[in-house]
Amino acid sequence: MTYRKREGNDTWHFCKNCSNWPTSGYKEQNTKPTTGEFCNECQAKQKAGNCS
Ligand SMILES: [Zn+2]
Repeated sequence: MTYRKREGNDTWHFCKNCSNWPTSGYKEQNTKPTTGEFCNECQAKQKAGNCS
């Protein structure tokens, strides 16, 4: 899974269909982040099986 967060922001996104998925000025990593927070929308999508 790919995780992205905007520079200067502590919220990680992991659903590419998140309305806040960063497309520029972001940091990306492929391992689960151990710092910061996870996006509420991404978590809701994952719960609903709607995370892509
Ligand atoms: Zn998100």
